[in-house]
Amino acid sequence: MKYPRTINRYCPYCRTHNQHTVSIYKKGKERMLNHGRRRLERKKRGYGSFPKEIFHKNAKINKRTQPMLECSGCGKKQYAKSYRVKKFEILD
Ligand SMILES: [Zn+2]
Repeated sequence: MKYPRTINRYCPYCRTHNQHTVSIYKKGKERMLNHGRRRLERKKRGYGSFPKEIFHKNAKINKRTQPMLECSGCGKKQYAKSYRVKKFEILD
């Protein structure tokens, strides 16, 4: 799928249409001491089964790509519609 580098969209912070630059959302680095991680470590330490099943039967082939729009006026970022496509290209 081809997506433009700049797009004219409504910005809820500026309350007008503004030029937005498009980038792809990337997950940040997980903190090793967040609540879910602490809970998992505690569960894994003790008796009993593994707390979460390891998922093997994947029905979906492609992961979602999340485009991020950055407003040229205020610099705030917002999400755009995400797509499950094999290839996601940002065109200049
Ligand atoms: Zn704005």
